[in-house]
Amino acid sequence: MFAQNLIDYGRKPNVIRDLSAYAGARKAQIGPENVFDFSIGSPNVPPPPEVHAAMLDLLQHADPVAIHSYTPAPGLMSLRQTIAASINRRFGDHVDASGIFVTAGASGAIAMALKGLTQPGDEVIIFTPHYMEYLIYVEAYGAKAVIVKSLPDTFQLDLPAFEAALTEKTRVVILNSPNNPSGVIYTRETIQGLTDAMKAAEAKFGHPIYLLSDEPYRELAYDGVEVPYLMDFYDDTLVCYSYSKTLSIPGERMGYLAICRRCAAYEDVVDVCSGAARALGHICTSNLYQRVIERCVDVVADVDYYKRNRDVLVKGLEDLGFTCVHPDGAFYLFMKSPWPDSMAFCEKAKEYELMLVPGHDFGVPEYLRVSYCVDHETIVRSLPAFARLAQACGVSKV
Ligand code: PLP
Repeated sequence: MFAQNLIDYGRKPNVIRDLSAYAGARKAQIGPENVFDFSIGSPNVPPPPEVHAAMLDLLQHADPVAIHSYTPAPGLMSLRQTIAASINRRFGDHVDASGIFVTAGASGAIAMALKGLTQPGDEVIIFTPHYMEYLIYVEAYGAKAVIVKSLPDTFQLDLPAFEAALTEKTRVVILNSPNNPSGVIYTRETIQGLTDAMKAAEAKFGHPIYLLSDEPYRELAYDGVEVPYLMDFYDDTLVCYSYSKTLSIPGERMGYLAICRRCAAYEDVVDVCSGAARALGHICTSNLYQRVIERCVDVVADVDYYKRNRDVLVKGLEDLGFTCVHPDGAFYLFMKSPWPDSMAFCEKAKEYELMLVPGHDFGVPEYLRVSYCVDHETIVRSLPAFARLAQACGVSKV
């Protein structure tokens, strides 16, 4: 009577939100200062002052009807032009305003691109560890997710495994860098290897294979590590960008899909993505926030705050004997579970009021995620709890 897959998505527990709700309940019971909630990836640094200044100015001075009316589905043309100009200024001459579609965050961009680019039976390659929602976006439309494991320890891409996974049916490859949950940034060499293999596969199979670059953490890169821009390497690229983390406004649902103007069948790709957005019920995103973004397009929240958290957390955990993947970006730390099953370990951690996310839904059950977008004091105060956990699990160096 109902589509079983949709019922399953509706019923599937969201481990992160459940853990975050549990943390909230524990905070109410024992005091917020005694609970270390590393579950959710929601920015804790405030939006940069330019965001609220733009809002206030618009609310006070702009035409009150105009700032709340519908906009064209792909967004205000002035915003699309501003975004295109920003991309071309920062990364090279890659996009036209016609290839910019303003979306409800990166999720909106990924969902519309996958719906537009795939048909039932097509294959979409995803690398571990991966954002958990990809599987739903891919499979809801009848395509098949093909998971390629990344290299152990570094979590850079396993290029021979990737080449073996490319088939006649491969339609899309999704890459997320800086990565959630590992914090890894894929190097230029890795990207070069990936895109060389994709070009060879396109020639071999005689059809385009699109690269979907999921980039909500693009601006969250530390110590000057470069996040290569994929359109520099590969023309059949679509970028899914988000202002959720860049401007600390995840609840406002703002992002965009950017389609490289040199991609195969550019006009069809633009139209099929627009059609997919329409089929998904997209009318437009917030008018007011489109205007805010137009004024803040190159503004970034305080990334140094996350870096300070990362530095203290990584050192603290490694000193205790835990093994971590070194995170160059995003605000996540991927830690090896001292027990083979990270689910059991994360349950144990709850005894010490540490809320950690098991790696199962990221496709790496032997690791777990620590989200360090929290107050710095929480990081500092959590280290003794981690020390007790380490001792209880037999990993303590101290
Ligand atoms: N992709 C990745 C890898 C994410 O981590 C997230 C959110 O955490 C998203 C996409 C969706 O972000 P949003 O829709 O808020 O832009």
